Amino acid sequence: MNPTDLDQLGARILQMADQLAAHSDQPDALTVAYLTPAHRAVAAGLQRWMREAGMQMHIDAVGNVVGRYAAADPTAPVLMTGSHFDTVRNGGKYDGRLGILLPIAVVSHLHARGERLPCHLEVVGFAEEEGLRFRSSFLASSALAGQFDAQLLDRADADGVPLRDAMRAAGLPATLESITALARDPQRLAGFIEVHIEQGPVLLERGLPLGVVTSIAGSLRMVATVTGVAGHAGTTPMAMRKDAAAAAAEMLLAIERRCSQAPTLVGTVGMLGVPNGATNVIPGRCEFSIDIRAGDDPTRDAAVSDVIAACEAIAAQRGVALELQRTMRVPCAPCAPALMDLLAQCVARAGVAPYRLPSGAGHDAMMIQRLTEVCMLFVRCGNGGISHNPLETMTAADAQLAAQVFLDFIRHVPGTPR
Ligand SMILES: [Zn+2]
Repeated sequence: MNPTDLDQLGARILQMADQLAAHSDQPDALTVAYLTPAHRAVAAGLQRWMREAGMQMHIDAVGNVVGRYAAADPTAPVLMTGSHFDTVRNGGKYDGRLGILLPIAVVSHLHARGERLPCHLEVVGFAEEEGLRFRSSFLASSALAGQFDAQLLDRADADGVPLRDAMRAAGLPATLESITALARDPQRLAGFIEVHIEQGPVLLERGLPLGVVTSIAGSLRMVATVTGVAGHAGTTPMAMRKDAAAAAAEMLLAIERRCSQAPTLVGTVGMLGVPNGATNVIPGRCEFSIDIRAGDDPTRDAAVSDVIAACEAIAAQRGVALELQRTMRVPCAPCAPALMDLLAQCVARAGVAPYRLPSGAGHDAMMIQRLTEVCMLFVRCGNGGISHNPLETMTAADAQLAAQVFLDFIRHVPGTPR
């Protein structure tokens, strides 16, 4: 039994994920933050496997582990693939890593056969996506997309270590010039494909091992502050109250109702609090967060306007003040129709019904979409679809199918720049 044999790729991918999971910032949980010793150990593992798979590899100026499997034709365009290898706190071992390990396994198979592709294949282990240490987002992929935020270099982690110093300590040049030089030339690219565990229950519930992503939903986030009148919980009659928390509760239900009205639309109040609240005081103030996403921007933005109108109506009716502050608005990143169709054909050829679904979670592909055309292959997540959790799981059989589909895809991406 040879680990580069086609029918062994799934098992090999899961084995590599297990090995990487041995490195953690915390002894009893899988936590790998940007540029910690565990992070560097994971990078070293990826580096070794990329080399063994026949790739030329290097670590770039933001710590990405980049492997290149050259096409026979040196003038061929570059097909990029990859995902992130950092984790959330107490995360799962397949989130992100699957999208690096799977291409490595597939390249090792190609290399063992002596087969070259119509495109140069660049496998990127993105060093940072989860934002755990520096509260950044897409730090690593933004560098390749030419969108790195220069101010990040001065941002400090929880221990007061600026990003610049953390980079220097990891042996990276830590200069803005070295990072901006990482920006890829879109003229040289054939596109980007990211393989990722679904991180949700949709494929599992449909009994499908794989899914073709249609778009990556962009979040719109707001912070709502409701101001009523604090008062004595015993002496103020119900009809005379201006209870900020009761108003917020009604708003929350209105958000839930409105966001249940379109298939890809989701709305969440993830934080809800009564600052300085007490058992015997009518809440004078309540704060909550709103996160609304959908498969396309018009669907999301229509929901957002309705949610704002509904919350304002509730505030007016209850005689409380409402302040809404928009904290984030990321546009949706649609996947490229041509790449999506090719991927769907490959899924069908593997004997799986090509089911299309949006991604509610953000991914590196979302940032790379600003640079070149992207597509994503989702792999079924076990355990009810749980992710960002040590219970995250997937099967070798699903990894095997995904590897075969990926192999088919990279053999058929046109060797001409898009
Ligand atoms: Zn991820």
